[in-house]
Amino acid sequence: MPLSEKEQHALDALERTLRTENPRLDRWLRRMRSPEDTTSVVLTLGILAAIVLGVALLIVGTRLGEAGWIAAGVIVTALVPAGAILWASKRYYHPRCHHLVRVSVEDCPRCTAVA
Ligand SMILES: [Zn+2]
Repeated sequence: MPLSEKEQHALDALERTLRTENPRLDRWLRRMRSPEDTTSVVLTLGILAAIVLGVALLIVGTRLGEAGWIAAGVIVTALVPAGAILWASKRYYHPRCHHLVRVSVEDCPRCTAVA
């Protein structure tokens, strides 16, 4: 169940207070990997895998002289990474600060964590 906006603000305020009062906790939380970092790692690995698979399809298609394999290679190499980047930019690219966070959040948690 997602938190309401009021609950999220209360939780953020509590987190900021705890971070201010306890610098060790603040440093520890900064070292933790955020869900946004995990998303970018998964996205990067997915794009690299698509490029490797697409190039492999292109090589096999060229050797066999099969137009279908070559077409599949072009699609996987070009369209899958482009689609993934487009999907991520619509969903995770904050329009004001350009951090990789969910667009649905009004205040970027990375910017507010630093302040
Ligand atoms: Zn930000």
